[in-house]
Amino acid sequence: MNFDFNEDQKMLQDAVREFAEKEIMPYGREYDEKAEYPMDIYKKAAKLGFIGASIPEEYNGAGMGCVDEAIISMEFCRADSSIGSAIDLATLGVPMLRYFGSEEQKENFMAKVPKGEGPSAIAITEPDCGTDVAAMRTRAQLDGDEWVLNGTKQFITNGKVGIYTVVLAKTDVNASPPHKGISAFLVETDREGYKANPIHKMGMNCHDTSEVVLNNVRIPKENLIGVENRGFYQLMRFFNESRIKIGALHLGIAIGAYERALQYAKERKAFGKPLIEHQAIQFKLADMFTAIESAKLLIFKAAYLVDKGEPNPALSSAAKLYASETAIKVTYEAVQVFGGYGFSKEYDVERYYRDARVGTIYEGTSEAQRIVIGRTLAGRIKS
Ligand SMILES: Cc1cc2nc3c(=O)[nH]c(=O)nc-3n(C[C@H](O)[C@H](O)[C@H](O)COP(=O)(O)OP(=O)(O)OC[C@H]3O[C@@H](n4cnc5c(N)ncnc54)[C@H](O)[C@@H]3O)c2cc1C
Repeated sequence: MNFDFNEDQKMLQDAVREFAEKEIMPYGREYDEKAEYPMDIYKKAAKLGFIGASIPEEYNGAGMGCVDEAIISMEFCRADSSIGSAIDLATLGVPMLRYFGSEEQKENFMAKVPKGEGPSAIAITEPDCGTDVAAMRTRAQLDGDEWVLNGTKQFITNGKVGIYTVVLAKTDVNASPPHKGISAFLVETDREGYKANPIHKMGMNCHDTSEVVLNNVRIPKENLIGVENRGFYQLMRFFNESRIKIGALHLGIAIGAYERALQYAKERKAFGKPLIEHQAIQFKLADMFTAIESAKLLIFKAAYLVDKGEPNPALSSAAKLYASETAIKVTYEAVQVFGGYGFSKEYDVERYYRDARVGTIYEGTSEAQRIVIGRTLAGRIKS
């Protein structure tokens, strides 16, 4: 058993940290306030090979692994919760093409994302259903050589700024059970009938989160991703890794808030001594430290298993569940350590606190993660 990153991974972590402290950290508040996607920063990160690092080199990736990508996600969000996650999530539409896409789809679309040509999206959630994926109503119907898509998707990250969106839609409305009637499609965001309407949020303000309306969007037959009516199963594969990524991002948020709180506790004085000399503050920092170290073990074990070719859905869910809940607890206590200043815009922790909140909601809620873990324990999902 070895808990250390290897030499290449240590060098990667140093390089990402240097980039993130220079190109991300100073701009957090600015992008939060202007609520604009940090396209320039995404492009700079892509140039250095930090976007979609696990994509094979022949598709402009760095050919690294899931552990490496988790290191990048963690470091991005340590530097800034909003920008870090916004640029890292440029790859949301990548895994479905990487694992199930045709050669043309990989070359002409997926390969653009790590190159910095634009982010990508995946659209599963709808206005009336999120957790209950099989209840989706968006339809895709074959008309000659084209698929025609109709429906509305909700809360789609990169739905507007992305170059393409992987859309999950019903192709067999009579399928029983209903999840057997879902397929995945590659939809270019400049197709006629595709419209993205930005949604205003409490945090992650520089993320583009949009309602995506598909009104008779016509795409070529070849834009089906993988096999018709296998979309739900393809999605489960997507979640194995995407949940590790979200977990790693929120681990980074927890680390960023903890480090800022620790520093402040050493500088700020109350009753004639630094805050950190008060045991009540020490206990908060001790709890933050303990939760962060635990989250790290879960995230990197889940990522290690993916790299080993043995992805474990329950562990990926546990990692995402624990890291996202840790980020909420740690950012809450970080604000407390800062006192009144924690509530002011002068310090980063108020933004970290707002941004952490979505971690237990997107990419499957905490309840959904517990369902996956529980069903695995009950023997209904293979671990
Ligand atoms: C900022 C942001 C970005 C997002 N990005 C994307 C994206 O890029 N693509 C995308 O497709 N979606 C995205 N989402 C949507 C997100 O994945 C969903 O919001 C989430 O899956 C929950 O779905 P819902 O909002 O419909 O809640 P619901 O499914 O209506 O759930 C409401 C509550 O009920 C609970 N619940 C539901 N079913 C059960 C059950 N069986 N047992 C116990 N509790 C249950 C849920 O856990 C939740 O607490 C994003 C959301 C946000 C806020």
